Amino acid sequence: MPDIKCTVTECEYNSDVKCGAPMIQVDRSNTSISEKSDQTKCETFKKKA
Ligand code: SF4
Repeated sequence: MPDIKCTVTECEYNSDVKCGAPMIQVDRSNTSISEKSDQTKCETFKKKA
């Protein structure tokens, strides 16, 4: 797994602004074809307890 910088620090897998999940799934967000990065989203996100 390469280093993944992620600023979503409220995610369970986030530590020091990096993703620590063993794998992540990224899907399109509200579109059938993404044209820009804001049309993608991390499905592995889990809110910190
Ligand atoms: S699982 Fe997704 S949202 Fe959570 S730290 Fe990793 S990349 Fe960020």
